[in-house]
Amino acid sequence: MSNFVVFVEQVGGKLRQSGLECLGAAAQAGATPIAALAGDGAADAAAALNAQGVQTAVCFDGPGTQSPDALAAGLAEVVKAKGAQGFLAAASAHGRDLAPRVAAHLDAVLFADITGLESAGSGYQVTRPWLAGKAIATLTSSADVLCATTRLNVFPTLPGSGTPSVETQTLSDAGKARITGVESKAAAKLDVSEASVVVSGGRGLKEAEGFGIIEELASAFGDAAVGASRAVVDLGWRPHSEQVGQTGKTVSPKLYIAVGISGAIQHLAGMKTSGTIVAINKDADAPIFKVADYGIVGDAFEVVPALTRAVAEIKAQS
Ligand SMILES: Cc1cc2nc3c(=O)[nH]c(=O)nc-3n(C[C@H](O)[C@H](O)[C@H](O)COP(=O)(O)OP(=O)(O)OC[C@H]3O[C@@H](n4cnc5c(N)ncnc54)[C@H](O)[C@@H]3O)c2cc1C
Repeated sequence: MSNFVVFVEQVGGKLRQSGLECLGAAAQAGATPIAALAGDGAADAAAALNAQGVQTAVCFDGPGTQSPDALAAGLAEVVKAKGAQGFLAAASAHGRDLAPRVAAHLDAVLFADITGLESAGSGYQVTRPWLAGKAIATLTSSADVLCATTRLNVFPTLPGSGTPSVETQTLSDAGKARITGVESKAAAKLDVSEASVVVSGGRGLKEAEGFGIIEELASAFGDAAVGASRAVVDLGWRPHSEQVGQTGKTVSPKLYIAVGISGAIQHLAGMKTSGTIVAINKDADAPIFKVADYGIVGDAFEVVPALTRAVAEIKAQS
């Protein structure tokens, strides 16, 4: 069985869901995942790592963990040392920064934002959306190592079984590019690209204050994030960090609720791979209904509060 080195993000010793999904992607394709973690808290996070099939974790410490180029060089060395056939990172901001550098060290191509990974012959093949989600491409690489970033919320995490053995490596080279500080603007808010439920609003909400009903529905779910169409971001109703679509974020939550959003191709490009899509729009001919699993034709200001009450009732019972 082949090995995949999987970069698993952690913050302060807490494993990020996106990294666990990467491990799931490797295991699902029949590879043995080797977890790689970096920075303060990596050892604690590795100790908490009990995803199925993870027998080995490599923890990086030292100044190089604050440098994407030094860390990428370290990761590439681990891939070589372990004779791995693959390298995976999440398609998060951090993963997108690291993975192309790792691929360059390995003289490999990078498949960005994949939604499928499986073994094919003696290697692997990936699937990823193309042309703003209009086509799904199946791709293989002739490079020795398959390098890819995995779309968030697409791959399953695997149930726990045991704790991996942990190796520690020190990256003493501080690297050329260095992260000197990270400022989180809305630390308490769930990021739209990571949430398992996204409630998005569009111009149909009439004004910025109209998003009150979107926020209430999101908070009734508890684990939901608020998203927005570009039209409302351009109008200044919502921050760009919430924009879903071609020029915003790509999201793939288990549940995506589009409220007062027409369903322009550029919006669909960012949410089409969501698990279940619910559209609420007063125009029965709105294009969003073509990609929706469930559609409600009606006024958002009547439908959404009723939905919020129903979700709150169900949550109270469970
Ligand atoms: C290069 C480029 C990149 C772009 N990138 C993005 C992107 O990343 N993300 C993105 O979203 N867009 C993007 N766009 C813009 C995109 O083309 C659309 O203009 C935009 O998505 C429309 O936003 P909307 O659906 O909120 O507004 P509208 O198209 O105006 O739709 C509003 C909808 O609300 C419905 N509605 C009205 N009142 C109610 C009510 N009371 N209850 C229920 N429904 C109601 C209407 O029937 C309508 O369907 C991009 C465009 C270009 C050219």
